Amino acid sequence: SKRNGRDRYAVFDPAMYADVLREARVRTELERAVAEEQFFVLYQPIVDMPSGRPTGVEALVRWRHPTDGVLGPDTFIPYAEESGLIVPLGRWVLRQACDQLAEWRRELPSARELHMSVNLSARQFQNPNLVEEVADAVSRSGIEPSCLVLEITETTLMRDSDVVLAALHGLRRLGVRVAVDDFGSGYSSLGYLKRFPVDILKIDRSFVQGEEDADAATLTEAVIGIGRALRLQTVAEGVETSAQWSTLRELGCDLGQGFYFARPSEADVIARLLAGDMPS
Ligand code: C2E
Ligand code: CA
Ligand code: CA
Ligand code: CA
Repeated sequence: SKRNGRDRYAVFDPAMYADVLREARVRTELERAVAEEQFFVLYQPIVDMPSGRPTGVEALVRWRHPTDGVLGPDTFIPYAEESGLIVPLGRWVLRQACDQLAEWRRELPSARELHMSVNLSARQFQNPNLVEEVADAVSRSGIEPSCLVLEITETTLMRDSDVVLAALHGLRRLGVRVAVDDFGSGYSSLGYLKRFPVDILKIDRSFVQGEEDADAATLTEAVIGIGRALRLQTVAEGVETSAQWSTLRELGCDLGQGFYFARPSEADVIARLLAGDMPS
């Protein structure tokens, strides 16, 4: 009947339909992108706070989309997680990053101690082969496991925590290190820091950048204190000004990352920076 038709029309709300179409399109495109390796990796230096010299880099994925240009992870990682494509994509990024580190450590005397940080999504912890795949990426590249850092967010730690805990113990047995990413931005129960084997705290940039905000400064100081008390390394994210750098240095933060030091860059730019900045 006419009435039924109208009801059906109400269910197929055009705006919602457009969303579903867009999602389906992105998913199909992502599948092809994984198969055709349309991704590339940028690297952002992580520096020693006192000296400002790079001690490591973080791998940050980009998508060279065939028609839309270069896309940042915030536009496609959520779809990749939802569809499960983050598992093959994450494996690819990990291999790429380990191979790149091996090359730098081989070719640049100043990169002999360099570390590589790679982001892991919650979804990747549901992959029962995660630890094996990490072991594989490390061994085929020939890097030492201790120079690989895997970054996971607080939310990942809180979700499905038994599975995550088991994987973290497996990763620790391999000798890779684990950083808590965006620390302080989410559901922060300090209890989990004792429960999970982690090595590094990355202080979320909302704290680091709130220097005019007295509360943010106090929280940054508190987080650095927690790191020190638990013998964890602390990394300040999103350092954009020399004022932020000096404040964090005075607070005793170990490492820093942000546009003030360097933007995420292509591997060859990083190689030049390492060669010039850190004469051996
Ligand atoms: P994240 O892990 O917190 O990475 C840091 C983000 O902050 C990067 O954004 C970086 O470009 C940006 N950033 C660095 N310094 C500054 C600064 O001084 N100011 C500001 N405003 N931003 C700064 P990007 O590359 O767009 O990545 C966004 C997020 O996407 C990452 O956040 C991470 O959660 C995710 N991501 C990136 N690559 C991967 C990947 O290979 N796998 C997974 N699962 N997630 C990834
Ligand atoms: Ca990260
Ligand atoms: Ca972060
Ligand atoms: Ca983030």
